[in-house]
Amino acid sequence: MNNMFKEACEYLKPKLEGSLVENEELKKYTTLRVGGPAALFAQAKTLNDIKLLLGFAHEKDLNYLLIGRGANLLISDKGFEGLVIRLGQDFNRISVNIKNATISAGGAITLAILLKDAQKYSLEGLEFVAGIPATVGGAIASNVGAFGKSVCQFIAEIKVVDENGLKVYKANTLEYGYRKGPLKEGEIVAEAVFQLKVGEKGIIKGRAERFFKKRKQTQPLSYANAGSVFKNPSTKISAAELIEKCGLKGLTEGDAMISDVHANFIINKGRAKAADIYILLDVARKKVKEKYDILLEPEIKTIGNFDEG
Ligand SMILES: Cc1cc2nc3c(=O)[nH]c(=O)nc-3n(C[C@H](O)[C@H](O)[C@H](O)COP(=O)(O)OP(=O)(O)OC[C@H]3O[C@@H](n4cnc5c(N)ncnc54)[C@H](O)[C@@H]3O)c2cc1C
Repeated sequence: MNNMFKEACEYLKPKLEGSLVENEELKKYTTLRVGGPAALFAQAKTLNDIKLLLGFAHEKDLNYLLIGRGANLLISDKGFEGLVIRLGQDFNRISVNIKNATISAGGAITLAILLKDAQKYSLEGLEFVAGIPATVGGAIASNVGAFGKSVCQFIAEIKVVDENGLKVYKANTLEYGYRKGPLKEGEIVAEAVFQLKVGEKGIIKGRAERFFKKRKQTQPLSYANAGSVFKNPSTKISAAELIEKCGLKGLTEGDAMISDVHANFIINKGRAKAADIYILLDVARKKVKEKYDILLEPEIKTIGNFDEG
């Protein structure tokens, strides 16, 4: 048992309703299927659990990471020397208000479930998320978008929690942009209310299916990946195009590869290490800079230490 875990048990376990373990392998929680152990890994069952966990992290000066579906994360093979928090039971609730055309969803609800309920009750707007692996919290944190729309455009309000407690933000107070969510440092999405429109079930379903089909045609979905590695430098230039023009499609490092289907995806063909993926990310960034003098900004979040040795 590591010392930090011992201290955490003493501090948290009497009050924590969720679970707490040490040295949990994070590759289980990321879509890239890489990532070493988290020194502490907690599942928060209630809002109070989050407050407790954040309080502990603050008191011990520990880094913490909120993890959703892990669909936007490249976590180091060395893991995370801090506290990883995953949202549990109380954040997995969803309810539909047909009269107002709103859906209220906990931070841990996946976009797949959100979209399924929207379709079930003939509420339209979110079809563009079909096939995007994300939780509501993760989607808001990076303002997930596709096909010209983004998740934050559909928010009526969000409830966030940080060390100081719960806050509610109405839509008109939120600022967000391209792959940039409205959250302030340290805020965790506990719940979001989405404002949709009443539509026709068949049309909504058809639209979602068309978006998903486009995705399947253009993305390497049969391999582990974390979606687009880099943000597009502008609305006119795509990162994929620049990487492809540098001749990098198909470049491999260990079991990681710059996808030959979509150059802005790095895939894990099975046994890739986070370090292999990081090397490819670095090569793509350097080559594009050399050839086009454009510095690509990563869309995926790198977590932990990637220094060699
Ligand atoms: C096949 C594939 C396709 C994809 N397509 C798209 C696409 O079309 N458009 C797009 O925008 N993205 C896309 N992505 C990327 C990914 O789905 C999004 O970035 C998504 O937001 C990740 O959500 P998550 O729940 O997995 O968050 P994670 O990856 O677990 O975390 C990402 C960030 O969000 C934070 N976070 C997570 N939950 C919360 C919370 N409750 N409160 C506060 N912060 C939180 C984390 O701390 C972290 O900083 C794709 C990914 C894959 C694998």
